[in-house]
Order: sequence, then C-alpha cells, then structure tokens
Amino acid sequence: MNSSLAHRQFGEICIICEHQKPKGIHLYTSFICTECENDLIRTDTSDPKYKYFLNKLKKVTTPEIFS
Ligand SMILES: [Zn+2]
Repeated sequence: MNSSLAHRQFGEICIICEHQKPKGIHLYTSFICTECENDLIRTDTSDPKYKYFLNKLKKVTTPEIFS
C-alpha cells in the first residue's frame, strides 16, 4: 500500500460513510476513508452490504455519460 496518501492533516469527506476522515484513499476524484476501504475489502460480494458499497462507488466510477 502507498502510505504517503494517508498523511492528510485535515481530512476529507468519505463517499461511503459521508464523514470527514483524516485517512483514506482517492478513487478518481473521490475519497474513501481507511475504515470503509477495509470494510469494502472484507465484505463478500454475496453480502447485501456489498451492493450498498457498489451503489456508492457507482457515483464515482460511472459518471453521467453512460446514463
Ligand atoms: Zn468512510
């Protein structure tokens, strides 16, 4: 993992939990906090929770152009 991305002083709004978190990763122009990232990684694709994550991520990975 690239830990240099985690060194942020002020925090950003996580697209999953919508809280301001100091640590996380950037996906395109959006921010995912470390907790949600770990949660996402641990969630099985058959888990309903995974769909919840995907819905949130969809906003990031598929801009309006495909609609
Ligand atoms: Zn989060």
